Amino acid sequence: MGIIQTAPGTRDVLPAEVGYWQYVETVTKEILGRAMYQEIRAPIFEQTSLFERGIGEATDVVGKEMYTFKDRGNRFLTLRPEGTAGVVRAFLQNNLCTIGGIQKLWYKGPMFRYERPQAGRQRQFNQIGLELFGSGEPRADVEVIALATDILKTLGLQNLKLDLNSVGNRNDRQNYREALINYFLPYKDELDSDSRDRLERNPLRILDSKNERTKEINQNAPNIIEYLGDESRKHFDQVQQLLTDLNINYLLNPCLVRGLDYYTHTAFEIQSEDLGAQATVCGGGRYDNLVAELGGPNIPAIGWAIGMERLIILLKKIKDIPSTSPDFYIVSKGKKSEGQALIIAQKLRREGLTIELDLSGSAFGKQFKRADRSGAIACLILGDIEAETQTVQLKWLASKKQILLTQEKLMSQVGELKEQLARHV
Ligand code: ATP
Ligand code: MG
Repeated sequence: MGIIQTAPGTRDVLPAEVGYWQYVETVTKEILGRAMYQEIRAPIFEQTSLFERGIGEATDVVGKEMYTFKDRGNRFLTLRPEGTAGVVRAFLQNNLCTIGGIQKLWYKGPMFRYERPQAGRQRQFNQIGLELFGSGEPRADVEVIALATDILKTLGLQNLKLDLNSVGNRNDRQNYREALINYFLPYKDELDSDSRDRLERNPLRILDSKNERTKEINQNAPNIIEYLGDESRKHFDQVQQLLTDLNINYLLNPCLVRGLDYYTHTAFEIQSEDLGAQATVCGGGRYDNLVAELGGPNIPAIGWAIGMERLIILLKKIKDIPSTSPDFYIVSKGKKSEGQALIIAQKLRREGLTIELDLSGSAFGKQFKRADRSGAIACLILGDIEAETQTVQLKWLASKKQILLTQEKLMSQVGELKEQLARHV
C-alpha cells in the first residue's frame, strides 16, 4: 500500500519553512498591535447562510468555490472561504457594536475555496486580515491601507504597487450600472460566456474578467469615477490626498471593482511584480452596507486580507530564514550518563538555553557528527567517567576547545555561559 498524499490544493508547511510563517506573524502582530488592532478568532466553519448573505450568491466564491457539507444534525455548514463574514457575525452576535465607537480587529488563519490549484492558488490557503468598524471617514481608509503597506515594507518586500478605485455608493452604482449595460450590449456576442451571464445581473464584474477579448472591450468602458456623486467624489479625493500626504504611491485603476451592493467607496489591491499570474498579495475595500445586510445596525466598515502563501513565495526570494539551531548539543552514552544528560538538558532549558539532547543511543562518533550538523555552538559530553565524577566536557564546536568542569559548576556558571554563547555565534 502506498503512502496517502495531501488532498489537491493543500500543502504541508514543513519545519524548514515555518520560520517564514512565524516571522510574518510576528511582524504583523507587532505592527497591528501598535495601532491598537486586536486579534479575533472566529470559527473555521459557519452556517452556510452566513456566506450566502455576507459574500453574495452571485459571486464565484459562493456560487462555485465553497466547501459546503451537511453535518450529522442536517445543518448546512461551510468551511469559511474568507474572514470578513465571520468577523462581522462575531461583531454582531457578541454586541461588540454596542461597546461604542470604533472596533479595530484582525485575524489570521486558513480559508477554503474550491479553485484550480496552481502556483499561489490553493484550496486551503491562509490569510491575515483586518476589519475596522465604525468609521466612515477617509482617514480610516487610509489608516488601513497604510497598515497593509507598512507590513509588506517591514517584511522587506519590493516592487509592490497599490491600485486604487472608488465604487461610490449604491446610488452612484445604479447609474453606472445602466451606463455599463448600454456600453456592453453591442459587444454581447464577443464577451466571454461568464461576462455575458453577468451583463444583466452584475455588469460591474465584467470589468474584472481575465478573458483577453473582454479585457480589450473593457478598455473603453465608461469609467466609474465619472459616475460618482458629490459625496463619493469628495471621499475619494480625500483618500487620495491623505495617501499622498503619507507618501504612499498609488495608481488609479477603474477596472478594480467589487460587484456587490454592500461594497462602497474605496477598493484597493496591492500587487507584486515578482509573482507572475497570481500577483495580488492584498485585497481590500470599504463595505459600509455589509453590517446592515447581515442584520445589524448601519455601521460603516473597511478591511483587507493578505494572502499568506503569496507573501511567503515573495519572502523566500529575498530572505533566508534558517530554522533554529541549539546553543548546546548534548552527547551521552551509557545508562548513568544518559540519565544525567537528561537532567542537565532540562535544567539548562529552564535557564533559557536551547538544548538538543541526542536521544539516539548510538556510538559517540555518530552523535558527534550530528552535533556538528545541528548548528550548535557548543557540545556537552557525558561518558562513564563524567557520570561517575559528576562532571561534563564542554566543547566549543568552532574552536574545538574543550574543558572539563563539574556539573555543579556548569549550572552555577550559566550566566557567563550565555555571554560566551552569544560571542561564539
Ligand atoms: P484572486 O483574484 O487572486 O482570486 P480574490 O479576489 O479571490 O483573489 P480576495 O478574496 O480578495 O482574493 O482575498 C485576498 C487575498 O487572499 C488575495 O489577494 C490573495 O493573496 C489571497 N488568496 C485568495 N484566494 C487564494 C487562493 N485560492 N490561494 C491562495 N491565496 C489566495
Ligand atoms: Mg479568487
